[in-house]
Amino acid sequence: MKKIAILGSTGSIGTQTLEIARTNGDLEITALAAGSNVERLEAQIREFHPSLAAVWTEEKAKELKSRIRDLDVRVVTGMEGLIEVAEQPESGILVTAIVGMIGIRPTIAAMKAGKDIALANKETLVTAGHIIMPLAEECGVRILPVDSEHSAIFQCLNGENRGELHKILLTASGGPFRGKKKEELRDVQVEDALKHPNWSMGRKITIDSATLVNKGLEMMEARWLFGVEPEDIKIVVQPKSIIHSMVEFADGAVIAQLGTPDMKLPIQYALYYPQRRYLPGERLDFWKLGQITFEEPDMENFPGLGLAFDAAAAGGSLPTVYNAANERAVALFLDRKIGFLEIPELIERCMKEHKVIKAPSVEEILQTETEVYERIEQMRH
Ligand code: NAD
Ligand code: MG
Repeated sequence: MKKIAILGSTGSIGTQTLEIARTNGDLEITALAAGSNVERLEAQIREFHPSLAAVWTEEKAKELKSRIRDLDVRVVTGMEGLIEVAEQPESGILVTAIVGMIGIRPTIAAMKAGKDIALANKETLVTAGHIIMPLAEECGVRILPVDSEHSAIFQCLNGENRGELHKILLTASGGPFRGKKKEELRDVQVEDALKHPNWSMGRKITIDSATLVNKGLEMMEARWLFGVEPEDIKIVVQPKSIIHSMVEFADGAVIAQLGTPDMKLPIQYALYYPQRRYLPGERLDFWKLGQITFEEPDMENFPGLGLAFDAAAAGGSLPTVYNAANERAVALFLDRKIGFLEIPELIERCMKEHKVIKAPSVEEILQTETEVYERIEQMRH
């Protein structure tokens, strides 16, 4: 029986991970961490019987404890709580389904405790990939990608010689605003940006898909996961999200992974790798599908993507600035405090002002994050 702990169990990836545990019946859930949705967490605890649960605040912990006072579950809080969930002795795999750089410390703690990482929390690799990847090697643990594109690349590389990998062809849907020009994007509303054409995901990543920042973050995620240079990653827009990504080898052969847009496939693949399990759900029907079309990404009207390549090229602490500025800008957009086009504008301003730290430590990464947040706060007053 595989034993898994989940950071962010009440979110989009977290709940789908538990769905997989439910249908397979041979995954034991040992620990769960969530932010504030105590009601959903209680239901999960009652169904999956973990021995440890984490919530962010003391107040939420009190509420949770009172809800589950009939159960023998330890409740922990804050960063220490997340780390406890990550290190918990019983588990073998940690699913990182939390949003943001808050995932860095628990991911490191889990690796040091010998856990494999099923990684959805791309922000951790984007900002601390230079620390995470060597550490995984040192600790003898695996980083198994959950992000659909990265799972696709991982599947395409199965049994191949990594040295013969020539290019990664990272596919993108183009998001809900594909084809729109800047003038049309100026006044788009939160509701419009939250309507992703193919995937149902958490709010932050859905906005990132609309700005193409998600693809920028994924490019940096891929760079670390597969040890390639940013210029060897090509973004290919494929609006229906049928091809989840491709790799090109030295001889020009291209291998792709295709499927319906369902995150349960990459999650399940990460949890059972190298095994494949039956997964209920729709199958691709090529007769109905008819066409798969391709486009170049529009970097002019969606400058968030180009900025990611700039951040990756400079490296060091600049990807952290890119990520932190985006995170804050997205929160402001969701609160209707700024417009859609201000998201990349804020990222660009923060990146321009930043003095790059070459190989930042975790402390420096988190310090950079705080500085970016403070800077954005200042800019708005
Ligand atoms: P989400 O917003 O749906 O869920 C986030 C989860 O994190 C929730 O359970 C929330 O309670 C928890 N959380 C937030 N703050 C917390 C805190 N302080 N302490 C403990 N838990 C906290 O997000 P999501 O869409 O599931 O995305 C999770 C990660 O996976 C992100 O890094 C995202 O980029 C990545 N990802 C998501 C998808 C997708 O389909 N949703 C696809 C690829 C990658
Ligand atoms: Mg993705």
